[in-house]
Amino acid sequence: MCTYISECFQENISRRSAENQKYMKIHYKFMSKFNKIRARIKDSKTHRIFKCPSCGQKIRVPKGKGRISIKCPKCRIEFIKKT
Ligand SMILES: [Zn+2]
Repeated sequence: MCTYISECFQENISRRSAENQKYMKIHYKFMSKFNKIRARIKDSKTHRIFKCPSCGQKIRVPKGKGRISIKCPKCRIEFIKKT
């Protein structure tokens, strides 16, 4: 317990700012997640994600190019996909 009002006040402020930081952290986490999802939705209109048949590496390719050969950057295997 605090003996002076000013101490009480300061404690209250520090506790509040800690709460605020916690809130901001959650808020930031949520916003970055939300932005990521939004970016992914926007991206899915122009790009497609293919998985390498050999190593499972995800490869992002532009859409609407027809049949293209995709080269895996990891294992350097090439495969044909329609985008
Ligand atoms: Zn691969």
